[in-house]
Amino acid sequence: MTLLDVKDLVVRYDTGDGPIHSVNGVSFTIEDGVNYALSGESASGKSTTAKAILGLLPNHAVIESGTIEFEGRDLRTMTPGERQDLLWEEIAFIPQTAIDALDPMMTVGGQIRQAVQIHRTVSEERASRRTRELFETVGLNPGRTEDYPHQFSDGMRQRVVIAMALALDPKLIIADEPTTGLDVVVQDEIIDNILQIQEETDSSLLLITHDLSVIAETCDEMSMLYGGTVMEQGRIDNLLLNPSHPYTMGLRNAYPALDVEHDGDLVSVPGEPPNLDSKPTGCVFEPRCPFATDTCSETVPDLEKLPYRNHWIACHHVEQSNRMRSEAEDSST
Ligand code: ATP
Ligand code: MG
Repeated sequence: MTLLDVKDLVVRYDTGDGPIHSVNGVSFTIEDGVNYALSGESASGKSTTAKAILGLLPNHAVIESGTIEFEGRDLRTMTPGERQDLLWEEIAFIPQTAIDALDPMMTVGGQIRQAVQIHRTVSEERASRRTRELFETVGLNPGRTEDYPHQFSDGMRQRVVIAMALALDPKLIIADEPTTGLDVVVQDEIIDNILQIQEETDSSLLLITHDLSVIAETCDEMSMLYGGTVMEQGRIDNLLLNPSHPYTMGLRNAYPALDVEHDGDLVSVPGEPPNLDSKPTGCVFEPRCPFATDTCSETVPDLEKLPYRNHWIACHHVEQSNRMRSEAEDSST
C-alpha cells in the first residue's frame, strides 16, 4: 500500500531579493514498510520538500503546485486541525537540531507525557509508564525523565526527540539529517536506534541525508535531488552500484567511504550550485555536466524509467553516462 505520494511538488520562497525556486516538480512514492532516502548536495531542496509534507513551511513560502497524499488523503486540502492530528499520530518528525524541538522550561518527560495525553485518553500514570518505556527503547536512563533539556548532551537530546516522535506509534518517521553535528560514534548509535525502533514498530522511514554510506546501510529506495529536481530515483542498490545520472556518478566519487563496493574513479562534479532565482528552462545540472549539449540547456529532461529495473533517470544522455561508467569499470579491473 502507498503511504506517502508526492506528485509534481513546486515550492518557491519569496524573499527580499526575489523568488527562490527551491523545489521544481519533485515526485516520489513511499510504499508501506519501505525506508526511503532523499539525498543531494546542500540547497538541493531536501528540507523544503520535508517541510512542505509536514506543513512546516514559513509564511513566505508558496506551494505553487503539486499534491501530497498520505494514505490517499491530500495533506494540502486538510484543515489545520486535521493535519495537526495526522502529523502527531501518523507521521513523526525528527528534526536536525533536537534543541529546536524541545521546550527548555519543561522536563523532557513532561513534554512526552503531554504529547501522549493530548492525543490519547490515558491516565497520567499510564502516560508516565509509556514515557519510561520510550526512554528505555531509545537507550536513555528511565530515571531521568524529570530532567530538563539542558541537562542532557546533544546526542541524548536527539534520543529524547526520537522518543517523543515515537510516542504515538507513527506509520511514517521523517528524519531530516538526524545525526548532523553529532560525533561519529553517537551518529552510528542514533542511526542504529532509529532502525531498531522502526523495525519494531513496523513504521516506514523518510531519511534526509547527504551521507550515502548511511543511506546504503539503512534505506531501500531513494531520490537524488539537485536544484530542487529529482535527478535519479529507484532502488538503493541500483543507484549506488550502477548510478546512471552524471550527477550521481560524480557524487559516488565524492563519497568513497561507501558500504558498497567502490568502482573506481568516475567523473567529478566541478562547478557551482545552481542559480534558483528563476525556474530552470533546461536540465538544472547542465552547467556542471560533462555530457551537456544544446538540448540540455533547452529542454528539461523527464524522469524516465530504465527498461530493465526500478530505476528512473532525468537525463538526455543516459546512454552516454552508462557507456562511460562501463569504460571506467573496465579500465579499473
Ligand atoms: P541542506 O543539505 O543544506 O540542509 P537542503 O537540500 O535541505 O540543504 P533547502 O533547505 O530545502 O535545501 O533549501 C533549498 C533552497 O531554498 C536553497 O537555495 C535555500 O537557500 C532556499 N531556502 C531554504 N529555506 C529558505 C527560507 N526559509 N527562505 C528563503 N529561502 C530558503
Ligand atoms: Mg536541509
